[in-house]
Amino acid sequence: MELLKIHGVGDVRVDAYERPAAGPKDVVVKMKSVGICGSDLSYIKMGGIPPGVETALGHEGAGEVMEVGAEVSGIAVGDAVIVNPMMTPSNIGSGGPEGAFTQELLVREARLGDSILPIPEGISYDVAAMCEPLAVAMHGVNRADVKPGDKVVVFGCGPIGLGMLLWLIDRGVTDVVALDLSEERLERARALGVQAALDPSKIDLRAELAKLHGEVPSYGRVGVGTDAFIDAAGAPNILTEVIMMAKFHAKLVITAAYMRPIEFPVGRMLTSEMTITTAVGYPTEMPEVIAAMPRLKDKIAAMISHKLPFSEIMKGLEIAATPQSAKVMIGIEEA
Ligand SMILES: [Zn+2]
Repeated sequence: MELLKIHGVGDVRVDAYERPAAGPKDVVVKMKSVGICGSDLSYIKMGGIPPGVETALGHEGAGEVMEVGAEVSGIAVGDAVIVNPMMTPSNIGSGGPEGAFTQELLVREARLGDSILPIPEGISYDVAAMCEPLAVAMHGVNRADVKPGDKVVVFGCGPIGLGMLLWLIDRGVTDVVALDLSEERLERARALGVQAALDPSKIDLRAELAKLHGEVPSYGRVGVGTDAFIDAAGAPNILTEVIMMAKFHAKLVITAAYMRPIEFPVGRMLTSEMTITTAVGYPTEMPEVIAAMPRLKDKIAAMISHKLPFSEIMKGLEIAATPQSAKVMIGIEEA
């Protein structure tokens, strides 16, 4: 067997791997599809989690159960399942000994409905493996706490930003403006049915939002009518731009990973009483994402821009780093 592992800064390799034997509380999943995540690329740049420690990669996986410990209930050999890495004690793919870029994934202390979730009938492994990024996206949207009729801006149309657009529109929030620097990504946003998809480097963003979302008098000045801004891009100018145009009680949800401290005009926030908050992971969202898969499977499948075999994962990592790509999916062959 093989396992994708980080060995140092920028040093990632497919290692020969001997899977530990499963204990009575464990399950082994024969991996079928595993998505490459933006955080995988960040971990490689950092040189591991924590930096300097060999780290197994892959946390967006779906596959078929091939072994079930004697004390595990409700899970059977042959079941098609999604692995929720946040609910595994070994923190699969984010710092523990296990990673999903392997042929056989050991899920320690597996529990049905918790770390192991059944794939609904008629859903492909590729679509199922989108569960994790779609759950991240749903949590970001949940933190924005918006309802139909609200006006929303999403910065960034990578896999997470696209997932946010999918959930917003699915929930009837249709006045959504998507922003990205890549025309390919803006095209994908348009296909989801957003109000507008724009390249902020080519427009006056405030003026454009005033047109699309209107303007609201706001404590002696005028804010744009946007109710919530969601940052899935992480560009250092976003906070300041949002603060300067935010209306009274507007919200900003930061879901991007800022690697450096940034300055922003706190004084201007005083009169808008705006809220800045963050969102990370998916404490509760996976079951709702899975329940929506039969309804949204075609739109979810369209978010996969590339599919490569595990033998070409290095090429996959390169493609995932390009701004034109959406989700890069890896198909895991038999060992
Ligand atoms: Zn991920």
